[in-house]
Amino acid sequence: MMETKLLIGGAFADALGGGTIPCVDPSTGETFAAIPRGQAADIDRAVSAAREALDGDWGTLTAVERGRLMFRLSALILQHADTLAELESRDVGKPLAQAKADVTACARYFEFYGGAADKVHGDTIPYQNGYTVLTLREPHGVTAHIIPWNYPLQIIGRSVGAALAMGNACVVKPGEDASLTTLYLSRLAHEAGFPAGSLNVVTGYGEEAGAALSGHPGINHVSFTGSQEVGVLVQQAAARNIVPVTLELGGKSPQVVFADADLEQALTFVVRASVQNAGQTCSAGSRVLIERPVYERFAAMIAERFKALKVGPALEDHDVGPLINVQQRDRVAGMVAAARANGFPVLAEGTVVESAPQGGFYVAPVLFGDVTPGCAIEQQEVFGPALALIPFDGEEEAVRIANGTPFGLVAGVWTRDGGRQLRMARRLHAGQVFINNYGAGGGVELPFGGVKKSGFNREKGFEALYGFSAVKTVAIKHD
Ligand code: NAD
Repeated sequence: MMETKLLIGGAFADALGGGTIPCVDPSTGETFAAIPRGQAADIDRAVSAAREALDGDWGTLTAVERGRLMFRLSALILQHADTLAELESRDVGKPLAQAKADVTACARYFEFYGGAADKVHGDTIPYQNGYTVLTLREPHGVTAHIIPWNYPLQIIGRSVGAALAMGNACVVKPGEDASLTTLYLSRLAHEAGFPAGSLNVVTGYGEEAGAALSGHPGINHVSFTGSQEVGVLVQQAAARNIVPVTLELGGKSPQVVFADADLEQALTFVVRASVQNAGQTCSAGSRVLIERPVYERFAAMIAERFKALKVGPALEDHDVGPLINVQQRDRVAGMVAAARANGFPVLAEGTVVESAPQGGFYVAPVLFGDVTPGCAIEQQEVFGPALALIPFDGEEEAVRIANGTPFGLVAGVWTRDGGRQLRMARRLHAGQVFINNYGAGGGVELPFGGVKKSGFNREKGFEALYGFSAVKTVAIKHD
C-alpha cells in the first residue's frame, strides 16, 4: 500500500497530532490502510503554506506556465490510471469500470483547465471621455476545497483544476471515507513540479479538519460539495470571515418521459443514471416520471433491466458495488423498508452475487412503481440504488411533480416534440437540463450546480473559472 501523508508546503508529513483514521474497504468491511488525522493545527500550516506560495513562486508564474503544469499533471494521471482506478475502486467500493471513468474525467479536468488558464481575460469598458477603463480577473487567493467521498477524483478535478488555473493556492480536505486517491494525486502534482504550497492536502474528519478549514480566517473562498446539513455549517463558518462560497449539495433529480419518447433510447440512460455508483451520485436520476399512456410498458422495460442488475465486490466490476459504509447501508435499507411499508409495489430487485463477502455493505437495487408525489421516497435523497416511478398526465402535471421537491440539481426530458423540449427546459427548476440524454456526473465542459436546496454558484466549464476569480475594475484618467 502507498505511503499516506499530508502534503503541506511541498513536503509530505504526518498529522501533527500523530493520529490516523482507518480506511475500510466497503466490499469486505475490512480495514486495509490508514490516513493521517489532520486537525486544526495542520490546517493552519496548510493555509500559511498556501499564502506563502501566492507571495512566492506560484504567484509569479504566468497563466501559460500554470497551464503547462496542469497538462503535466493530466498526463501523469493517465500514466497512473490503472493504479488510481484500483485504489478508488477499493476505497469507495466503486465498480472498476466506473472508477476508470473517474480517472479519465479527472485527467480531462486538468487538461481542460490547463488549456483555459491563459484564455480568461477582462474587458475594456466604454466610459467618459478622457478615461480608459479595464477589468482584471484576479484569483481570490487561498481557496478551500471540501470534498465528499462519492466522486473524489472528479470533484477534485473540477474544483481544484479551475482554482489552480486562475492562480489560486488550494487547501484540499477530502472525505474521511475516501482520501486515498487524493493523497496519490498530491504525489503526482508534486512530481509534475507544482511549486511548494500551491496545492496542499490535509486529510481528517469533517468536524475537525473540515470545520477548521471552512472557518479559517486565512481562506478567501470555500468550495464545498456534500450534504445540505454540512453545507449550512460551511456557509455559516465562511460568513464569519465574509468569504464567497460555492455549495454543491444534494438532489432528487427527475427524468420526465413523455409518451412520444424513444423509450429504447431512454431506457439505458434511465437505469444507469439511477444505479451508477450504487445511486450515490448527487445528480442521480432517482425519480422517473412517465406519461400514463406508456407507463405500464416503460415500467416493465425498466423492471426487466433492474432484475438483471448484479451487485458485488468493486474490483469484480459488477453493475453495482457496495455502499460506502455501514451507516449509509443502514440508512438506505431503512428508507427502502419505509417505502415498502407505505405499500408502493416493488416492480423488480437486483441480486447480490454469491461471491460478495458477508462484511461488505451491499444493498440490492430496488424499483418502486406507482409512487405518489410528496411521499418520502419521492422527496428525499436516498443516495442508494432505489428508483421511484411516478405516472403523470400531461405537461402541466409533469412540471408540477418535477419541480415539487426542495432540490433543483439536474433534470432529464425525453420527448420528440421540439416545442415541448424547449418549454420544459425553461420551466424545470434545475442547474442542468438534459433533453433526450442524461449526464449524471459527466460533462467537464458543462457548467454544473444547483438551484433551491441543491446549492448555488457553478463549477465545471468556464463558469468555474469566473467563480474562482474576482473582477477588479481599473479606471485610468488621461487627457
Ligand atoms: P458530507 O456533507 O457528510 O461530507 C462532505 C465533506 O464535508 C467531507 O469531506 C466531510 O469530512 C466534510 N465535513 C463534514 N462535517 C463538516 C463540518 N462540520 N465542517 C466542514 N466540513 C465538514 O457529505 P458526504 O456524505 O460525504 O456526501 C454525500 C452528500 O454530498 C450527498 O448529499 C450528495 O448529494 C452530496 N454531493 C453533492 C454533489 C454535487 O456536486 N452537488 C456531488 C457529490 C455529492
